[in-house]
Amino acid sequence: MRYLVISDLHSNWEGLQAVLLDAAGKYDQIVCCGDLVGYGADPNPVVDWVRSNVVALVRGNHDRACVGLEDLEWFNPVAQAASIWTMSQLSPENIAFIRELPMGPVPVANFQLIHGSPVDEDDYLVNAADAGGAFPYAESPLIFFGHTHIQGGFRWRREQVQSIGRLHPEWQTRYLLEIDPECAYMINPGSVGQPRDGDPRAGYVLYDTDNEILFYHRVPYDFETTMRKIRDAGLPELLAARLAVGK
Ligand code: ZN
Repeated sequence: MRYLVISDLHSNWEGLQAVLLDAAGKYDQIVCCGDLVGYGADPNPVVDWVRSNVVALVRGNHDRACVGLEDLEWFNPVAQAASIWTMSQLSPENIAFIRELPMGPVPVANFQLIHGSPVDEDDYLVNAADAGGAFPYAESPLIFFGHTHIQGGFRWRREQVQSIGRLHPEWQTRYLLEIDPECAYMINPGSVGQPRDGDPRAGYVLYDTDNEILFYHRVPYDFETTMRKIRDAGLPELLAARLAVGK
């Protein structure tokens, strides 16, 4: 089975469309590591699409916040404003769908989906030290996660953590990772809707369970349109500006 793995869509319709066009014909099923909404201006189109196209997913912290399952005190003012706006926009059907999303881990084939970390759905796996503390809690040798919006991840071999290099804009549009059966992995497909690794292109992963090959991908998208929609919606300017720099 060939999977398209996506995460952190954050109501970015143009980013999602670019990923789907780029990956067309190269996957059988779609799975998602959460944060469908929050930040961007297209929550309903994105959630409508998820409901009919994604076979397995977990909830993210922004999903909880945008349907009243999270105390907004924990969010910075920009994220708070986006959550309140998103809550006011979401259709009753999409609110009901998001409220029922599982916390994770969610098992799929030979891997699991989580949002933040195997320890806690809200923990961030940013560096090798974070991953080293989390690998002993991993319930599967292959876990896909999101939350940091940083494409890459970590390999665990004989109690040692190695970071998996993320793609640099000048490098390439895809990067191959062959899964070593001797190792455990936590893989971040990158963010579709708000990349934060200095590369504004939307990120995703294609994973083939038959030959144990995984490709990281980056694809440019029309972030000018996304930025205009964010400004037109009256959302905080920072949410528009950061898309152009991927930060
Ligand atoms: Zn997120």
